Amino acid sequence: MTDELVILGSGGGRHHIRTQYRATGGIIYKFNGIQSHIDPGPGAIVRINQYQEDPVKTELFIITHAHVDHYSDLCAIIESSREILHDKNYNYYKKGTLITAEEVLNYISDYHLNMLERVVKFRAGNKFSYKGAEITGTKTIHSPKNEGFGIKFKLKDYSIAFSSDTMVYDGFSEEFSDCNILVLNLLRPNSITCRRHLCTDEVIPFLNKIDPPLKSLIITHFGSYMDSLRSTKNYVPSQVKKLQETTNIKNIVAAEDGLKIKITELLN
Ligand SMILES: [Zn+2]
Ligand SMILES: [Zn+2]
Repeated sequence: MTDELVILGSGGGRHHIRTQYRATGGIIYKFNGIQSHIDPGPGAIVRINQYQEDPVKTELFIITHAHVDHYSDLCAIIESSREILHDKNYNYYKKGTLITAEEVLNYISDYHLNMLERVVKFRAGNKFSYKGAEITGTKTIHSPKNEGFGIKFKLKDYSIAFSSDTMVYDGFSEEFSDCNILVLNLLRPNSITCRRHLCTDEVIPFLNKIDPPLKSLIITHFGSYMDSLRSTKNYVPSQVKKLQETTNIKNIVAAEDGLKIKITELLN
């Protein structure tokens, strides 16, 4: 199996958008020979090139909610997913599927939407089948104004979920109980709470109630409190240690900009 994650940005929130202290390009997820790009925030197209990935290979675009650190580079990513835009008669080539929170469509030009084969308006609880992958929207509680979703991929050999931005809620553990791997947006360390986001101490009891236990947890989308020039230190290593010591999950991985992770390593 060659399935892989490529971290194009381990940062989230406005300070990382501004400083790029941690990048904000989202995640490339390659599965079944398909290249998808989840939440291409500011700099996504720069990071793809910096980390020597090929934007032309992307055919599935996913935007979990209408915050700028999740959707800003979508037009550039759609346009970069083909080498030639149109034939000599200006007939534009159609390629790719966009799965998105509906509100995001207000911010994407018709010009770019018309380059796609398909646009799927998506929300928590929805299901969509894509070339053998069963894709499900998971619940998020985040912005009261912008409805979003997390996303879960059920494949033949494993399943993986991306929580997107959320806080914990009743049923959080059950939402991920059929997953082997969870990519968790963890904004803040320890017990430093942030409204509508997660900190480590809040989420630990919910992680331990995922049954059967996850094989791997990847933490990402760190805010400025977690690690930036404003923070007193980089809290990420201590959060990995804490999660290793207090959860029943075998592998805890911290996202770093440019990190490439083979899925097979996460299933051990
Ligand atoms: Zn975010
Ligand atoms: Zn958000």
